[in-house]
Amino acid sequence: MRIVILGAPGCGKGTQTKLLTERYDAVQLSTGDLLRGAVAEGTPAGLKAKEVMEAGGLVSDEIVLELIRDRVTGANAVKNFILDGFPRNLHQAEALEEMLAEVGQPLMGVVLVDVPASELTQRIAGRRICRDCGAIYNVYFSPSKVEGVCDECGGETYQRSDDNEATVASRLDTYAAQTEPLVGFYTDRALLHKVMGNASMGDVFDEICAAVERFSVAQ
Ligand code: AMP
Repeated sequence: MRIVILGAPGCGKGTQTKLLTERYDAVQLSTGDLLRGAVAEGTPAGLKAKEVMEAGGLVSDEIVLELIRDRVTGANAVKNFILDGFPRNLHQAEALEEMLAEVGQPLMGVVLVDVPASELTQRIAGRRICRDCGAIYNVYFSPSKVEGVCDECGGETYQRSDDNEATVASRLDTYAAQTEPLVGFYTDRALLHKVMGNASMGDVFDEICAAVERFSVAQ
């Protein structure tokens, strides 16, 4: 499997990607997670990325492409992956296309998880994540049974520092200006499949799986 999950912040792509990794035994490649890891470790890339992330902008292509190149082309390249949060602009999409062409493993498809803009802010501001297992909750739509405690593993849940209302507005603007053009880019390549993301988590998952299975048959 070599697919991209595309969608605005808060559309549920992280949650859906986790479910897909379990169903298809694939690896989630999330540039957001990789960058947060770099920030937490205080690497040079992390130090550069931190401020931009807090402001809701895009981290430089140079940093992000380096993180991805390592995982899709090197000696230990992942063969079965779901890209979540990457690419985020046309330059990244073109660079990805080139990288995958180099290794003869082109993308199989792109799933766009479409959620009305009016819902996104609440979805992001309500998001909580388990520090230990990464399970994702939402205080408005799908809260954990006990506030602050993960249902899965009992770990502590937290709110991402960029999931506040001020940063959310600029993240949504950044998406509209820089990432949305990818819908046309992948439509032109006949790779895009749109799924409505404002149904239940299970229904959205079923639709995504149906799309993924069509991608596999088309190969
Ligand atoms: P995410 O977890 O995907 O919402 O990403 C969190 C933040 O990390 C974004 O708001 C960006 O600042 C940064 N980021 C994640 N992925 C990328 C990317 N592909 N290109 C540039 N910046 C990114």
